[in-house]
Amino acid sequence: MTNTPLGNDAPLKVLCITGWCRNGSTIIGNILNEIPGFFHVGELHFLWKNAAGRGVNEDCGCGRKLVDCPVWSMILPVGQPAGSTLAEHADAVIRRQLGSVRTRHTWRVLRGLRGEQVRAHAALMTEVYQAIAKRGEARVIVDTTKIPGEAALLAHLDGITPYYVHLVRDPRAVAQSWSTPKEYVYALGPGKSTGYWTGFNLASHAITRRYPERSMFLRYEEFIADPAGTIDRLLRLCETDPAANPVDDRTVELHTNHTVTGNPDRFRTGATVIRPTDDSWRAKLPKSARRIVAALSWPLARRYGYRFGTTDSDGRG
Ligand SMILES: [Zn+2]
Repeated sequence: MTNTPLGNDAPLKVLCITGWCRNGSTIIGNILNEIPGFFHVGELHFLWKNAAGRGVNEDCGCGRKLVDCPVWSMILPVGQPAGSTLAEHADAVIRRQLGSVRTRHTWRVLRGLRGEQVRAHAALMTEVYQAIAKRGEARVIVDTTKIPGEAALLAHLDGITPYYVHLVRDPRAVAQSWSTPKEYVYALGPGKSTGYWTGFNLASHAITRRYPERSMFLRYEEFIADPAGTIDRLLRLCETDPAANPVDDRTVELHTNHTVTGNPDRFRTGATVIRPTDDSWRAKLPKSARRIVAALSWPLARRYGYRFGTTDSDGRG
């Protein structure tokens, strides 16, 4: 169960990005995916749901169905009991996820693996990460699942060293992003978006406070202001030489990836430029929505450097 990749005895590293969705984790993961020995899996938590046709998106970042992808077709049978179908296995995994690693379970998982369900899920994930490392010849797996319960679980997996990035984006920009459906992603109103923003960020904070020596707090706005410098910081966090950084100023050449769901931009390949600002919410987010976002997020948003009011500072100034 604890095969080590590439015949190396060093623990497998998992760089785990937490925080609420629409925080820019997909592009950061895809940039890291360009580094030899790194493998961005996308939102691994949804592999079983999506592969079994129970999720919103059955496609891998490579354009094939997950069940037909050369990577995921080999990973999906990991831990599948003999005589069961993939659909039955997927349903069992989804049941254990719901029963043991939801956001509200985060604090309990941080304290230890109590209960049959969470131990079974941990055993499966240990095998799955090691199998991905072997298949992808990876030393560092980048997982942008963002679900804090899964992130907390990582610290209990044998042979795996997790590194945590708590990635936060201005809740007004997040609410604006959620306000319109895109491709396979549904829409959320500003109240729900901000409620999740607060819950996911509080739980993410509990994780990074528990493991401060292997954690980093990052605002999306810092990443787009200085993409190359931010990738350097991420590489140092997981003890990798920043010379491997694939970003040249603001441009990175992206190749095909094997991501399980994420922002629809994950299918984009070729030279990609990271734009320095991303503030369309200022023009598009209605005043009523801004008031809802401010009311539900202000104590935390303020702590992260986002200021509400007449200047609407996004924390950069
Ligand atoms: Zn694929």
